Amino acid sequence: MKNLPKLFLPFTLLSGIVCGFLRNEMYVDAQSDKLGLIPLHHPNYPILYGIAALLAVLLIIYRFAGPKRPYQIVTKLPIAGIGAGFGALACAYMLFKTEGSTLLLVAQAMGLFGFWGLATAYFAGKKPSLLNMLLPIFMCFGMVLGNLTLWTKLNQTQDYLFDSLFYLFAAIYGIHRLTCASGQKTDYRAGFVWGQAALFCAIAAAAYGHILYFVSLSLWLLSTFFVTPCKMVLPTPVEKLIKMLERAGYTAYAVGGCVRDGMLGLTPKDYDLCTNAKPDEIAKVFDGYELVRNGEKHGTVGVVVDKCLYEITTYRTEGSYADSRHPDWVEFVDDVCDDLARRDFTVNAMAFNPAVGYIDPYGGTADLFHRTLRAVGNPKKRFSEDALRILRGVRFACRFRLIPQKDTLQEMVALAPTMDRLASERVYSELTEILCHIEEGDLLLYKDILLQVLPELVPCADFCQHSRHHRYDVLRHTEMVLCNVPGDATLRWAALLHDVSKPQTFTRDEKGEGHFHGHAGESARVAEQILLRLKAPAALREEVVTLITHHMDLLTPEKPLLRRRLSKYGEPTLKRMIDLQTADRIATGYKKEKHLRDRQKLVDMLKKLSKEEGRLEAKDLAIDGHDLIALGYEEGPQIGQAMHHLLQQVLDGKLPNDHETLKAAAKEFLNNL
Ligand code: ATP
Ligand code: MG
Repeated sequence: MKNLPKLFLPFTLLSGIVCGFLRNEMYVDAQSDKLGLIPLHHPNYPILYGIAALLAVLLIIYRFAGPKRPYQIVTKLPIAGIGAGFGALACAYMLFKTEGSTLLLVAQAMGLFGFWGLATAYFAGKKPSLLNMLLPIFMCFGMVLGNLTLWTKLNQTQDYLFDSLFYLFAAIYGIHRLTCASGQKTDYRAGFVWGQAALFCAIAAAAYGHILYFVSLSLWLLSTFFVTPCKMVLPTPVEKLIKMLERAGYTAYAVGGCVRDGMLGLTPKDYDLCTNAKPDEIAKVFDGYELVRNGEKHGTVGVVVDKCLYEITTYRTEGSYADSRHPDWVEFVDDVCDDLARRDFTVNAMAFNPAVGYIDPYGGTADLFHRTLRAVGNPKKRFSEDALRILRGVRFACRFRLIPQKDTLQEMVALAPTMDRLASERVYSELTEILCHIEEGDLLLYKDILLQVLPELVPCADFCQHSRHHRYDVLRHTEMVLCNVPGDATLRWAALLHDVSKPQTFTRDEKGEGHFHGHAGESARVAEQILLRLKAPAALREEVVTLITHHMDLLTPEKPLLRRRLSKYGEPTLKRMIDLQTADRIATGYKKEKHLRDRQKLVDMLKKLSKEEGRLEAKDLAIDGHDLIALGYEEGPQIGQAMHHLLQQVLDGKLPNDHETLKAAAKEFLNNL
């Protein structure tokens, strides 16, 4: 369903073409009709339509059968050029060979180029070129004139009037979009009015026949509302903040991540604003609002609107970075473009203002829609200034499936060793985000960068397991486990580190088969060290250690076993344990379907158990420490032992959770101690 609007354009081309054929026939018939209509269409129209039909079919096939990442391919293949070439040949052929309503013919041929260009740009996910947009506008004007001539000549037959009106409004709509796209005007919504007017005329014209043709044109107009990457609607508080700054005589923009996310059709996490107002001037504009002023040194003032904090930062440039972490100085500037120049990647270096439109001096839009990650300016300089940008780059590449541009990737790898100066917390948070978005191929693709901050994993790379149970080396196996567990931070960390100590515990038996005795415990120990070094939150660290320690303790769908595990770990951890074990098995490279079925059995049983019985812990027993002391137990470890014993008995169904029974069992346990 989501892709439906994407089919409007090829569909429009195709149905327009079919109707063209029909319409042509209709008027040829009409020629002999009593109405006395002149042959409206050119005798060689079918050639033009034939070529257009071929292109439209190609587009539709491409849409469905194209590669997974069409963005890269379309732009490399000169499909648009080939299409335009065909169109030009057809046009020339028809013009030289025959005569007829040449104006309409030329207009439509130009429109064909234009539509073709729009379609390919649209599949390539990039902004259409100026020519792409101008050609349909020319076509519209040609059609307006042609149809008006016919209208006056042909006793004012009404469908020609509607035809010309349709093309007139469509042309105005096109011009409007053109000016928007070139950044001169940005209220995209105003274009809607002209689009609607054109639609209305198309519907009216449809009443006079050739319905499909106009339905298809209408669909094309509609589709343009869906495809534009250029529509951005700011939330009301953000618009309000921008307007207030503008009213006070400053310029202001939404900037960075929110513009990028908006273009991708995602909901931004937060909205950052930038302005030429200095921090104290910002504070003055928002006098009376709750302000957060601790970032003023770097130009940032926080303003609270409707209980939400928005950061407004003065445009600034940055000096050199002696420590690869912080700029030596910052300087406030007046131009938003100077501020964009200090940002890390082109897709993050765009600004938007409802009245001005997009400011995109580094081609972030094109890069985003070509799925390219490119450093702003000289990559070597940018990564040497701040080594965190290297990890940020990997994060954006994984999160938005961007492909790093050659020089950018080369410098990211070359300067990876400078990341040792970064603060652990920042490395941890970047790594966590990367792990949560990683997909197959990413860990190996970025291994030279990631292993720089996770040196413990270096021996795992290309480490052959010499095992008939494992198809892959340790790092490749790790990557597969990562990609087969759900994307939550705890599980991803556990997956990344679950086999980190395999190389150190490796032995081979006399048959040459590889073994890794005790690798789970050892990996858990190393994982703990790594997470301590990176200052990971304690709760995450502890759970990761638990998951890794027990990742080899096979869980099977047996009620008593699951009941005991549920009591010990609780449902969320046990669920993660199941997921980690399943992914670990899948990543051996064998029997994926079976492992997924086993997992489902476990999950179903766990769900049922938690619903019916819940988690039973020692504190839920119908006996407590005081009762045990009354029975003659000494305070201390004896009580813990007894409670554990009683809990296991109850969990295994050997004893009911009943005060008197447990008391009797505790007495017996004491006697046997
Ligand atoms: P997210 O959606 O994860 O918040 P983001 O792009 O908004 O992504 P932030 O860390 O919030 O990332 O930064 C906001 C903007 O500030 C970025 O888009 C980028 O333009 C700029 N920026 C942030 N950190 C750096 C950096 N280390 N070097 C250069 N520019 C940076
Ligand atoms: Mg952000």
